[in-house]
Amino acid sequence: MVISKWGKKLFVTSMSVALSLMAVTASADTGTAHIKIGSISGGASNITYWVDSSVASYGHNGAVSNAISKWDAASSGISFSSGNSSAANLKFYAGEYVLPAGVLGATGYFYTTGQQIGAGDVTNGQNYQIATVTLDAGWTSGLDQDQRFMNAGHEVGHVLGMNHFENSPAHSGEHWMKSGAFKMTSPSSIDLAHVRTKWGW
Ligand SMILES: [Zn+2]
Ligand SMILES: [Zn+2]
Repeated sequence: MVISKWGKKLFVTSMSVALSLMAVTASADTGTAHIKIGSISGGASNITYWVDSSVASYGHNGAVSNAISKWDAASSGISFSSGNSSAANLKFYAGEYVLPAGVLGATGYFYTTGQQIGAGDVTNGQNYQIATVTLDAGWTSGLDQDQRFMNAGHEVGHVLGMNHFENSPAHSGEHWMKSGAFKMTSPSSIDLAHVRTKWGW
């Protein structure tokens, strides 16, 4: 009788250890290191995107489609619909060696007036109306398709309010939101935890 009582108690204790580990893994810190306070106006459930013909010309249309569909599926708080260039508040472009040396992709934040907003200002709470994502076919020419998928997913992650996961306190492992060119066609569980923290559950 005594032995079985101890056995039961030990089992319960190891269960609660496992549960707290799960809670740590699934949670995302909410500090500005990894999540921007500022947001795209209208919110993430109302993003209209438009893809410039340059994206298909440079062969990055599959990467953009994948980024949209994977982030759309990440949270009930995120929804993308396609629209024309004037209605869209997220616009995709590609070019060859249009970004600074070695930069694979870039996200820009703007008011409707065309005035650009610094990424740091968005991190600190400035909302913006238009985002642009530019993918560089020159600097990504040596990458394989999975790496191009990550590049587009990474930039859309910035639009959705994520910062870089190598920022302290850094997340180890490979993530769409960690700078680099990982062979990842989907966001990691840590990526998903952050975007859900930002936009809902
Ligand atoms: Zn984090
Ligand atoms: Zn980045």
